[in-house]
Amino acid sequence: MISEQYFEDMLDYIAGSDVISLVNLLKGKENVSEFKLAESLKCEVNFVRNLLYKLYDYNLVFFTRKKDKIKGWYIYYWTFNESKVIDVMIKIEKERKERLEARLANESEGFFFVCQNRCIRLDFEKATDYGFRCPECGDLLEQKSNDEFIQKIQDRIKESEKIIKELESELNSIHKQRAKEEKDREDKIKQDEEKKKLAEEKRKEKEKKKKELEKKRKDQERQKLKEQEKKLKEKQKAEKASKAKSSSKKKETVRSKVSAKTTKKKVENKKEKKAVAIKQTKTASKATKKETLSKKVAKNRARKKPPVREKKSSQSKSKIIKKQSKQKTKSSTSKKQKTSTTKKKTSGLKKVIKAVKNKLTKK
Ligand SMILES: [Zn+2]
Repeated sequence: MISEQYFEDMLDYIAGSDVISLVNLLKGKENVSEFKLAESLKCEVNFVRNLLYKLYDYNLVFFTRKKDKIKGWYIYYWTFNESKVIDVMIKIEKERKERLEARLANESEGFFFVCQNRCIRLDFEKATDYGFRCPECGDLLEQKSNDEFIQKIQDRIKESEKIIKELESELNSIHKQRAKEEKDREDKIKQDEEKKKLAEEKRKEKEKKKKELEKKRKDQERQKLKEQEKKLKEKQKAEKASKAKSSSKKKETVRSKVSAKTTKKKVENKKEKKAVAIKQTKTASKATKKETLSKKVAKNRARKKPPVREKKSSQSKSKIIKKQSKQKTKSSTSKKQKTSTTKKKTSGLKKVIKAVKNKLTKK
């Protein structure tokens, strides 16, 4: 761990001891006005600016500026760049180590001469320039082994190397930490994006399902409507059919009525005919009766009239009787024939009537 002392030494190395209090004012703040800094440090703003520029050279501070509307110039606002501290420390430590190494090389190569009074230390070249006498006090210079000094430089170089290693490991851990933080941030962003994506997908899925459901519902509605329409059509059809049926029934009934009437008429006609026939037969039978009666009357007359002829002769009388009997028989036979014909006629009529009746009953 780098000590506070080391940090202050570094600041001192960069811009002198005055910068330490300035950095302490800036630490943990952002955009501090240089006028406020000057006021706090109780010094001129230009002095503060000089210190800040030195820190700026090492990238230890950054600034924003704003134009003063009244005075017309820029005011600078400063922020301490904490993240750069270790980088700067490493840079400075490496510079120091380089200087030490250069010095070590210089010491190792040459001979050095010192004044007994500790006034000066000169290398061989300079010592010859001064004739191996101290330019301060005039005493004789003595050659001094620099082994001890070389050892000191070597120790300081080792120390510097150790510090650099420490700083680098710290910087490495900081970088790792930052990388981890960065990765965490990226992971979080990714996770958020994935969550968003998932949510979006879910939302889309939901919407799709909703649409499908809506479609299904609409289809069902359409189907229902179709069915209703179909039913309605069927009903209308059925109604039409029933109407047609009833009308046909009516027609049929009318027809049947008509037919019944016609049959009735026919029957009536037949009855009439029958009646006529019966009348005819009756009249016929009456006529035959009349005929027979008239014949009888005629016969009776014939029986009463002939006395004149009877008186004439018995022979003739017998002859007449014979004739009469003959006639009688003749008339009777004719009469019989006649009655048989009438009988035949009536039986024929009766047959016709029977047939008609049969027909009617059949019907
Ligand atoms: Zn001296």
